[in-house]
Amino acid sequence: MTGITGNTLILDMLDRAVRTGRLHHALLFHGPSGIGKYAAAIQLARRINCRSNPGQGCTDCAYCRQVRLPFPGHPDLVILKDAASPLIMRRKTFLERYFTETGLESGEIGVEPEAEYERTLDHLQSTGLIRARTTCREASEQTDVLYLDSSGSNQIRQAENGTGRLGAWLSKKLLVYSSSNLYRDTIKIEQIRRIQSVLSLHPYEAAAKMVIIDDAEKMNIAAQNCLLKTLEEPTGKSHLILVTANPSGLLPTIRSRCQPLRFQRLPATELKQLLMEQYGFSREAADTAFRFSEGSVQRALTVDNRDYERRKSSFERIFTDASERTAGDWAIHCVARILKPDEETGIEDHGQTLEDLFRWLYEKLHDMVHRGRTENLPILPGGRKPGLGHLIFLMNQLSRISSEKNFHIDIRLRLESVLIHLAGSADHESPS
Ligand SMILES: [Zn+2]
Repeated sequence: MTGITGNTLILDMLDRAVRTGRLHHALLFHGPSGIGKYAAAIQLARRINCRSNPGQGCTDCAYCRQVRLPFPGHPDLVILKDAASPLIMRRKTFLERYFTETGLESGEIGVEPEAEYERTLDHLQSTGLIRARTTCREASEQTDVLYLDSSGSNQIRQAENGTGRLGAWLSKKLLVYSSSNLYRDTIKIEQIRRIQSVLSLHPYEAAAKMVIIDDAEKMNIAAQNCLLKTLEEPTGKSHLILVTANPSGLLPTIRSRCQPLRFQRLPATELKQLLMEQYGFSREAADTAFRFSEGSVQRALTVDNRDYERRKSSFERIFTDASERTAGDWAIHCVARILKPDEETGIEDHGQTLEDLFRWLYEKLHDMVHRGRTENLPILPGGRKPGLGHLIFLMNQLSRISSEKNFHIDIRLRLESVLIHLAGSADHESPS
């Protein structure tokens, strides 16, 4: 299989199974989230049903053209996907797809395609249908992360009145995708029944019907019991792929009827190469994204580097400016500035702030340990520099606070007391 790096053994095994017609009718793709299990399921669907090159997949038959990320759609393919998972859209690929599918030339639509695309995203955000964020500004080709927020009929009407031909096309794709594939939080029995009724019919035009259930552990018990029937009576003309990062959330009876395949995190070199080759990252941007990816492509692509870079310099300023103050005054002053709403967006998001602060400290720690660099460290009162023990203490405290439910209620007090403790112990190597 091409286009998906990592997990070569599993993909080769699936290839062989497709070629020899021995693919198990129910597969369970499991392993950490965001490492390409869902993308592999989509690619497997193409392998099975490709018209011009069955068993191989191509880029231009009618099936393969429709069954592609970010919004695969075909009458013989049923997908259930959590609305909370982001839709990652590389602009270049989207525009190419638009022109291939409509047969138009870029000059024919009367506007700059890029500008039309941006206007459409703005319009859809104003209707409340999506939240969009551009990540990877460092990348030469931009990638957008879309979250489909809602699909109330009002929003749909507004979204349909989108701007221009390209805009209308994008809105329609998103609306069809969100109304036919997305579930909210839990998969209920009605959705499994819908799958069963689709499976009870002959394939419309593909060789086999495919069902992909992403985050399959989100099926409630009734839904899982209902799905058991399908697993017990394979029709021979269908394949079911359950994708999950948490297989223990599935009933043992479900697990035992599927062939389990465990996917691994991507190794550093493969992940960085993928970011550079498929998403236009520079080497430096790929290095940064990798450090926070935990081996997950999705995480590498959704980490917001642009906003982070801005906040990072603000953290540096906060700690440098306050270093002449006394311990208590220093702590109160720093916390007040750290928790201030974002300078540019005016948004107050304490969860994001803690995450960014943690990430910034992690970078400092990394520089200190691996490169022996200690510049731009947060400066403690009296101009003293923190040691390793201080950074680790601070990071532990931050992750403890952010893991607590309702942490934002007394976050100011909690952070102040952490900093006061840190300042007080600054003469010793490690705060206790
Ligand atoms: Zn094909």
